[in-house]
Amino acid sequence: MPADKVMTRRSLLGAAGTAGLLLPALGGLSAPANAAAPAKGPQVPGFYRFKLGQFEITILSDGSYELPTTLMASNRPREELTSLLAENFLPTETRTSHVNIPLINTGSELILVDVGGGPSWQPTAGRLTENLRAAGYKPEDIDKVVLTHGHPDHIWGLIDEFEEAPRFPNATYYISAREWDFWTTNEAAEKLADAFKGFAVGAKNHLPPLAEKTTRVTKSGTEIAPGIIAEFTPGHTPGHMSLIVNSGGQTLIVSADCVTHPYVSFQHPGWWPRTDLEQDVAEGTRRKLLDMAATDKAMMLVYHISFPGLGHVARAGNAYRWVPAMWQWRI
Ligand SMILES: [Zn+2]
Repeated sequence: MPADKVMTRRSLLGAAGTAGLLLPALGGLSAPANAAAPAKGPQVPGFYRFKLGQFEITILSDGSYELPTTLMASNRPREELTSLLAENFLPTETRTSHVNIPLINTGSELILVDVGGGPSWQPTAGRLTENLRAAGYKPEDIDKVVLTHGHPDHIWGLIDEFEEAPRFPNATYYISAREWDFWTTNEAAEKLADAFKGFAVGAKNHLPPLAEKTTRVTKSGTEIAPGIIAEFTPGHTPGHMSLIVNSGGQTLIVSADCVTHPYVSFQHPGWWPRTDLEQDVAEGTRRKLLDMAATDKAMMLVYHISFPGLGHVARAGNAYRWVPAMWQWRI
């Protein structure tokens, strides 16, 4: 954009009454790639660390990916969804889904909860390993990997396809027995809609090679480590699992994909994402988890909300409101 068209602070203030002028001007502010000061491009907040009681938790970004908004509320008229998105200044056709993965240091163990999508899921995701290294750890350091469910953005980072070996070679693995069976038999291929059948193929590449290192959790409430409890939260997938993390009187609910959007999931827990396999079961689970988080005033980690995905759940009328928590901690 020519220099004489760039808006100064003075002209922005002058244009405040004509909001329509503001957007094209702001859209032209990024420098082109061949400029003397080229833009760097990708966003880089790769990890975010905080304390929960005695535990140190690092949220690692696996990157993000785009989804069509047609997947977001299959049981509601499309206009209801698009007007909610527009009211919140979000695009109405696609949504950007972040992938926020917690690494819990209990003081004696490093526990990673899901492993991201690896290099073959999405070009804008699969960054977990580089962000893990940026946070000061190596893949070999991980003691336990808990898998919340078998979707690609959560498990396709398990096997390094170049090395044909586990990416976290010294870890033992945990997944619910129901989830393991769903993805390692033909059940997933039979039950998934056509658009999602590729998920079943990928799961069969990533889970069976780890069979001998994997504990299949059969009971909700099982302790993965002192203070870390696996709760069955079915619906998104049949054996979906969340974690309740307790330390020093503080609680973090690792919700995985029970909630996926900062407005839709909280203001309208009855709107059914098409990515939930058993949608009525998922709604029941979502309502239970939101009620628990609001009642207990527990912190929640949401995987697909803007990085780092940490916040609280407040009651709002008959539903809820997402309250991001990132400003509560010093950098
Ligand atoms: Zn997911």
